[in-house]
Amino acid sequence: MDLNIGDIVKMKKQHPCGGFEWEILRNGMDFRIKCLKCGHQLMLPRGKFEKNIKEIVRKVKKSDDN
Ligand SMILES: [Zn+2]
Repeated sequence: MDLNIGDIVKMKKQHPCGGFEWEILRNGMDFRIKCLKCGHQLMLPRGKFEKNIKEIVRKVKKSDDN
């Protein structure tokens, strides 16, 4: 799955605050994501994160694509 910093993803599970959409703050072996509704941040291993994604809501265009 192609995931980049700044992308907004919708998760299958609802956050306790009621939000579904998260922004990617850091990617790699572990992902840091932020709930768009309450601002809560958490770290997830890549495999677990990808399994929980329902869809990518918004893609950020890579600036290094020529
Ligand atoms: Zn939340």
